[in-house]
Amino acid sequence: VHAPGLDGLVLTEHSRRWPHERFSEAAGNGFFLVNAREVETACGHIVVIGVEDEALTATRDVERLRSVVLERGGAMILAHPFRHFPSSWNLLFPQSRDHWSARDLEEWTPDRLAQHPVFGLVDAVETLNSGCTPKQNELAAAVAEVLRMPTVGASDAHDLSFLGWFATEFDDSVRDEASLIAALRAGDCRPLRRTPAGAYEAAAAR
Ligand SMILES: [Zn+2]
Repeated sequence: VHAPGLDGLVLTEHSRRWPHERFSEAAGNGFFLVNAREVETACGHIVVIGVEDEALTATRDVERLRSVVLERGGAMILAHPFRHFPSSWNLLFPQSRDHWSARDLEEWTPDRLAQHPVFGLVDAVETLNSGCTPKQNELAAAVAEVLRMPTVGASDAHDLSFLGWFATEFDDSVRDEASLIAALRAGDCRPLRRTPAGAYEAAAAR
């Protein structure tokens, strides 16, 4: 795996995790690699770390997913919560574009958006995602701040060229899947963005 500037990767394939044999091959060279999954739920995409596919059969219902993940000691990250917002394509607040008049949008402050129950069912919120507009990412950050929830950044790479656009910084204590889960839960993580020069900087302070 070649990923300049990154110390590791969490693979979050849709539908199922990477096959164990192929993943082990890629993970073999000492690069920090975790095999995870992005689960499609009724409340949008949720990254699940630390739970094998066999346990993730009933995944649409977030409350059920939550109990499975807690039982297995995993972690959940709400991915790109405001992608497509404001429009009916957003799964958390699926009102039509016509519905979202300027006045309506104004009334939906981060405090109000933060009341969506899904935020109480995940460990962290993704506040930098390369498939979102800056405004959508800022909204996710504002809501996470209201809730004082841990935040992460992710490239959402569907192509190698997207790898590392956004990243997450952890302390040195993160060495394997278990310590990654612990750090996410404890909020020992920070979203980062890559500068044009290729360095990483903290997401702009709000
Ligand atoms: Zn997604």
